[in-house]
Amino acid sequence: MAMRSIVIGAGIIGTCTALRLAQSGVQVTLIEANLPGDGTTGTSFAWLNAGAKRLREYYELNVAGMEAHRRLLAELPDAPWYVQTGNLEWRATPEAQERLFKQVERLQGIGYPAKLLTPAQVVKDLEPDLMIESSVEGIAYYPEESHIYPKLFLTHLLRAAQSLGVELHTRTKVVDFEMSGNQVSGVVLESGTHLKADVVVCCAGRWTEKLLSQVGVYLPLISPEEPESEAIGLLVLTSEICATVQRVVHAPGVNIRPDGPSRLLLHSGKFDRQISLQTPLSPPPQTAEEVLSNARKFVRNLETARVESAIRAIRALPQDELSVVGWTPGVEGLYVMVTHAGVTLAPALAEMAAREINGTPEKMLATFRPDRFQPQVSG
Ligand SMILES: Cc1cc2nc3c(=O)[nH]c(=O)nc-3n(C[C@H](O)[C@H](O)[C@H](O)COP(=O)(O)OP(=O)(O)OC[C@H]3O[C@@H](n4cnc5c(N)ncnc54)[C@H](O)[C@@H]3O)c2cc1C
Repeated sequence: MAMRSIVIGAGIIGTCTALRLAQSGVQVTLIEANLPGDGTTGTSFAWLNAGAKRLREYYELNVAGMEAHRRLLAELPDAPWYVQTGNLEWRATPEAQERLFKQVERLQGIGYPAKLLTPAQVVKDLEPDLMIESSVEGIAYYPEESHIYPKLFLTHLLRAAQSLGVELHTRTKVVDFEMSGNQVSGVVLESGTHLKADVVVCCAGRWTEKLLSQVGVYLPLISPEEPESEAIGLLVLTSEICATVQRVVHAPGVNIRPDGPSRLLLHSGKFDRQISLQTPLSPPPQTAEEVLSNARKFVRNLETARVESAIRAIRALPQDELSVVGWTPGVEGLYVMVTHAGVTLAPALAEMAAREINGTPEKMLATFRPDRFQPQVSG
């Protein structure tokens, strides 16, 4: 009889995992408290990259993520969610430019596609509507980086998963685990229904810590309730603009990417700390206007663009900021996957998790195991 699994959470991690498990012959029930993508996945900048990751193992995991996205493209042709146009980055001060040039050299040295272009080349050949300060000597171009449209991605993946028999339950919340000794044997839903499974895969994003604490698994995430929490981000969606930006762009103080053919999605790390869980977002706060003003310096014709919406986005951010993937310590049959950079990583983590759940441990995940957080017993 096929192994029965329950996957909790239809964000990008749970959806990719449900698909890969089903393809490996495992029976999958995917349970989502709201609708697919209603967690962090639906409010992501969604840039696929590895070059910015410094820890070698984490860099390699992200490279694997970018490769696994390409495998999905080959499987599900005509992928409207994937925008493979690369990423451009430049810096303002001579010192920061020097650091960027060194980064390009370092990445080239380890075989990551990266090159330096002149501002004139960028404007002529790639992005005619960008405005780049004359003091900029070089722009880093990462041609293999890309971005996706996360909800479109989920739509296509869920369709593929359901065609393989994955049962999706939306607006259905898991409130507890069913245990036989220290073995998970299923989940309890808010309705009171019990569902049985041989394996439960927890892909509950930022809700993971609370859910797993019920079975004594300690997995600390950075709380969005802390003052100036790193878990909170502000995304700004513009009204329609009269300019084109086709790539991910990291300009000084603002990150820009297209959101469809005529709107931009903006993010600025330096403004993230200025909003909290309590900041009202409608009408858009001054902070969102400042993010847009920053973008106006770099993209032509944004004078009349408005902030269409300011979006509070909450990261699923493990305390040490690295992915957490694997069997949970002390509880049999419970597998957890929670990570930042989940849009880049999901397809790779899903492939690896499916192999592990079917019995083949994955070396690449050794650095990212959940037991690194368990309290050490002394003596
Ligand atoms: C501002 C911002 C920018 C980002 N930019 C990037 C980027 O450029 N590149 C990148 O790779 N990553 C980026 N990320 C990170 C990325 O978006 C996340 O890592 C990823 O979306 C996490 O996906 P997930 O499936 O783990 O979580 P989620 O999308 O939150 O999914 C978890 C799901 O579980 C469900 N759930 C929770 N509890 C239960 C329960 N008890 N029962 C049933 N269902 C439950 C939730 O409803 C939710 O739908 C960004 C994040 C933010 C906030």
